[in-house]
Amino acid sequence: MATGGVKLLKEELFGLVDFFFPPLCSLCGQRLAEENGLFFCRDCLAKFSPLVSPFCPLCSLPFSGPPGSDHLCGRCLEEPPAFSAVTACGIYEGRLREAVHHLKYREKFQLGRALGFLVAEKTASRHCRQPFDLVVSVPLHRRRLQERTYNQALLLAEAIGRYLAVPVKPNLLRRFRPTAPQQGLTERDRLDNLKGVFDVTEKIEGMRLLLVDDVMTTGATARECGRVLLRGGASSLEVAVVARAARHF
Ligand SMILES: [Zn+2]
Ligand SMILES: [Zn+2]
Repeated sequence: MATGGVKLLKEELFGLVDFFFPPLCSLCGQRLAEENGLFFCRDCLAKFSPLVSPFCPLCSLPFSGPPGSDHLCGRCLEEPPAFSAVTACGIYEGRLREAVHHLKYREKFQLGRALGFLVAEKTASRHCRQPFDLVVSVPLHRRRLQERTYNQALLLAEAIGRYLAVPVKPNLLRRFRPTAPQQGLTERDRLDNLKGVFDVTEKIEGMRLLLVDDVMTTGATARECGRVLLRGGASSLEVAVVARAARHF
């Protein structure tokens, strides 16, 4: 068959697939128009609060002030983290917060791919060459994984790895002690709660890593994982999360 004929056949087939399985917004289920992109409708995308300047160049904590006046936050000034940057789809509020909750608690697995691709696209746009050797997810403790049955951070990491064409190591970081829930704890208590909880299970000498989690609130988890990864030999580390909390809880 001539190339034009194959192309026509392909278009017809895709048209049929779209007819029987129209692409829907991964969050609200609304039918997607072509210009909406792959996963989210325009309404949902417009309701994701973007993370815009000014923010901390290390942990992406947003501040109020004129755009462009980025500066280190008090926490990063006092003790710089092991990671060099945090990329997030937006601020942890409104529709994006709802999306994270659907992924985390309501088994909306398709959101793992949708949100993962969204943050991967933002991460890739910050670099002109491939900056990572491995994608690593923040682990759940074995007992917690048995209760919850899946780790939302790993679903995101798999999507991000696929988008960036970088291998994902699900068990590279291990949480060998269960921890009390972090919610409601101060940042200091969160850090204490996480001390000595993670370890690295493989050689990562000289590797450039991307650490993935669903949300960054105080940054205590990413700080502690980062410390362990750098001590394990990683040469550099960035963090990718779906959402960044606008203030410390
Ligand atoms: Zn939608
Ligand atoms: Zn900071």
